[in-house]
Amino acid sequence: MSLTGSFATTAAAVVALGLDAATLGALSDDALLAAHTLLTDHRRHADTIAAHLAGEIAGRSTRDDGYAGLAQRKGFGSATGLLQSLSPVTASEASQLISAGALLADPPSTMWEGALAQALSAGLVSVAATDAIRRGLTPVAETAPAEELLAECQRLLSRSPQLSIDELRREARSARDRIDEAGIARRERQRRDLRYLKRWVRDDGMYQGAFLLDPEAGLHLFTALDAIMAPRRAVRFVDATAPDEAVLTDTRTDDQLLADALTEMVRLAVDVDPGTLFGTNRPAVRVIVTETSLREPGGHGYLEGDSHPVSRETVDRHLCDTGFIGIKFDRKGQILDLGRTERLFVSAQRVVISVRDGGCLFLHCTKPPSACEVHHITDWRHGGKTDVRDGVLLCQHHHMLLHNNKWKILREHDRYWLKPPVTEDPVQRLRPLPTKSPLLRELLPAE
Ligand SMILES: [Zn+2]
Ligand SMILES: [Zn+2]
Repeated sequence: MSLTGSFATTAAAVVALGLDAATLGALSDDALLAAHTLLTDHRRHADTIAAHLAGEIAGRSTRDDGYAGLAQRKGFGSATGLLQSLSPVTASEASQLISAGALLADPPSTMWEGALAQALSAGLVSVAATDAIRRGLTPVAETAPAEELLAECQRLLSRSPQLSIDELRREARSARDRIDEAGIARRERQRRDLRYLKRWVRDDGMYQGAFLLDPEAGLHLFTALDAIMAPRRAVRFVDATAPDEAVLTDTRTDDQLLADALTEMVRLAVDVDPGTLFGTNRPAVRVIVTETSLREPGGHGYLEGDSHPVSRETVDRHLCDTGFIGIKFDRKGQILDLGRTERLFVSAQRVVISVRDGGCLFLHCTKPPSACEVHHITDWRHGGKTDVRDGVLLCQHHHMLLHNNKWKILREHDRYWLKPPVTEDPVQRLRPLPTKSPLLRELLPAE
């Protein structure tokens, strides 16, 4: 069929409804909704044509074309800008149209993208839904089984009419994570690599900044900020409790309150004596994982409150520091049994460990105890009671490094040693990890 064939068909159907403003009120509910559905179909066909056109416009405006490119000749830096000037689309809608156009124009390299292009071209799926499925299913390892990806893509296509765009992207993402479990650690690392905090001082003397955090760090910050905002939300949305006078008379906006909260948190953290903060330093982020994932090589878990799976190494690091609670479910998702918290260093033990180690034990690291987690040197799978001699302080960075890169800490002759992985040191020479506590260094005989 030609590009405009389906468009003409649905256009004729819409015209045939004979809608006019005067008789609209007389339509039955069913007829009203049917008319809406028909128009939605028609718009989808219009969008497919728009994607074809956008793809062609972008094809004539590539970087290689330089100033001779179509968008450039019209005075725009890119095809996205040109499209925005031609029609009321946002930058992201314009780039969706362009990439859908490219999908339609170039033969896709994978089977699932081929199926997607076919559905888009037949007007069975919208440009936005095509984009959601494509983004959700990528990046995926080249080794991921092509048939499974194709089957998932077809399932998503058939589900797309019932799902919102956000739901569709989420479902596609979790399908990809199921198929390409090996890629979870890599994608987690990629997200973490994107993190930044930029800050600058403006001409008017104000301090400004912007940040981007990976899910784990973001949850830490957001849950802390949410906790501070909670009393205000309670006053707004729940009348049952007597409102706190102080909160009610607070004239600050939510944004101002958050700014003050962040500043206050920093002030507290800087002022606190590391020895006293430590021990009450319970993490605000929980990791959730199935026993099957834990027993098998590979496997993944989730951070509570976030939909991106996290790698086995991240799960291990959390279990190592905070222990775990076993919860047994039946097949319907009902809780059968609640385990006790196992392997948890109590706060008194944490204080003892922090005094003994004086900070992160890793080579050359100078992080104080308040910035550290406790690493269990015996793997939790091998049992062992929670003995302070089995816990050492590591800052989050080095704790992560240790679990991700398979370094080990050993205790021999009541001293701690770092054992590098073979990839780092073929002979795996043990490096001593002496205490960082200045007091203990004074007390202990020189080595
Ligand atoms: Zn650990
Ligand atoms: Zn460290």
